[in-house]
Amino acid sequence: MTKFTRLALVAAISASFGTAAFALEHGSWSYGGNTGPHEWSQLSEKNKLCQSGLQQSPVSLKSKKAKKVKATDIKLEYRDSAAKMVNNGHTIEVDLPGDGNDIKIKGDSYELAQFHFHTPSEHELDGKHFPMELHMVNKDHDGNIAVIGVFIREGKENKALASLFSKLPGKGADGVAVRINPADLLPADHKGLFYTGSLTTPPCTENVHWLVLEEPIEMSAEQIQAFRKEFPDNHRPVQPFNGRKTVEEDNAL
Ligand SMILES: [Zn+2]
Repeated sequence: MTKFTRLALVAAISASFGTAAFALEHGSWSYGGNTGPHEWSQLSEKNKLCQSGLQQSPVSLKSKKAKKVKATDIKLEYRDSAAKMVNNGHTIEVDLPGDGNDIKIKGDSYELAQFHFHTPSEHELDGKHFPMELHMVNKDHDGNIAVIGVFIREGKENKALASLFSKLPGKGADGVAVRINPADLLPADHKGLFYTGSLTTPPCTENVHWLVLEEPIEMSAEQIQAFRKEFPDNHRPVQPFNGRKTVEEDNAL
């Protein structure tokens, strides 16, 4: 074996190890079978909380049990933005550039990093699931995460999403440049439930601030079908609530 072939061999072996490790940590989970939600914690050491965490999401929310509060000091400043829509193999995700799409929670600024969709809904509201759920993922400079959850029921065509849902990228396809004002995706009524939970995908990171709005937005049957053609079911089942508190505010945003 020449020195060159030996080097090439070593490179090939480390490349394949690198790929395997990457696939295990980032790409191997799914929503069914032996890489589905009940197995996530087994797939990587980093996913331990998916099994052992006591503040996991999604949950079954009960509006009657929530403590009513007057004001939670959240200011929403979303605006018309250029964004990139990708199919990451788990959902359709719209990545924002991170300039100026802010929510301020008690003075702390969180930037909208991305929004994405699940079907059926991940959270339950008063015992009810919805056909879909939208998650708007906001992050502050220290890596704290605040997610706004919006239920989607079947109804009129969603005009704000019309151009996006007419060109959903397939798995492995290139991202699509889009324009969207994320504020247009919120319902008119901003009554919402706050609780502390987690990411609903591996690694199931906790201390996520959740705000789930109670009024659903609408999408047409065709729009829901277009998503389900790519992702027939990409929801994690509800997790134990473990005595956490829920707070309800009439005008949360
Ligand atoms: Zn989500």
